[in-house]
Amino acid sequence: MKAFENTIQAVAVCHTPYRQKFGIPRQPGLVNAHGFVELLPPFNDPDTVRGLEQYSHLWLLFCFHENLAQGWKNTVRPPRLGGNEKLGVFATRSTFRPNGIGQSVVRLHGIVKRKGKLCLEISGMDLLDGTPIIDIKPYIPFSDAIADARGGIAQDAPVLIEVSYSELATLQIATLGQDDARPDLAALIDGVLAQDPRPAYKKAKEDPKLYQVALYDLDIFWCIQDGKAHVLELKPTKV
Ligand code: SAM
Repeated sequence: MKAFENTIQAVAVCHTPYRQKFGIPRQPGLVNAHGFVELLPPFNDPDTVRGLEQYSHLWLLFCFHENLAQGWKNTVRPPRLGGNEKLGVFATRSTFRPNGIGQSVVRLHGIVKRKGKLCLEISGMDLLDGTPIIDIKPYIPFSDAIADARGGIAQDAPVLIEVSYSELATLQIATLGQDDARPDLAALIDGVLAQDPRPAYKKAKEDPKLYQVALYDLDIFWCIQDGKAHVLELKPTKV
């Protein structure tokens, strides 16, 4: 093959409630988080998205920008296998890969102006806040949805755990969730923790650790109690 070179630039940036990698669902569509894809110049012309509103879902191609510096290896240890077994990088959705490219199907709610910027309002993404988007394409069900596809080690969605709340956390969520800047806060916390974001090796035994996930501008503190994720309290993230 002839050598080729192609410089890729971000066409957009994704704004999401996920402020750290820990806690982000491992695939799209698992948690109904809301976010925005902000088109960047020179792609922020309404003509670039003309007709896109006819589609309910989009493919986002993006860069795992937070992991690029760590490079990649031929094999990875998928979390689903408890970190014990190795599979080829191209046999997994590892975030450490040549070219660092990820792809996710998300729901499109509309094309909107947000803070004066042309944005796509989306939900269900599994992306860190600030993720560079390198391409956007409509999801085409007749071709992209394959009813009898085999899912390898990821045939089924992850098993969910129950989520419980302290009295303090219940009150805090009711109050802090009223702010328009944190849409669906209660459902988001519930959805994220029900995924049990802990590494697989932690799930096998007693786990006394205090965990924290950062959603919007809040740190959510939780632990495991009787096999459930128990939310203790919410604190503003320190900047
Ligand atoms: N659906 C995509 C795919 O299959 O290419 C992503 C799957 S990947 C396993 C999902 C994980 O990527 C998330 O749980 C989060 O930890 C991580 N992630 C999301 N955005 C990232 C970013 N910008 N840089 C590095 N890691 C990111």
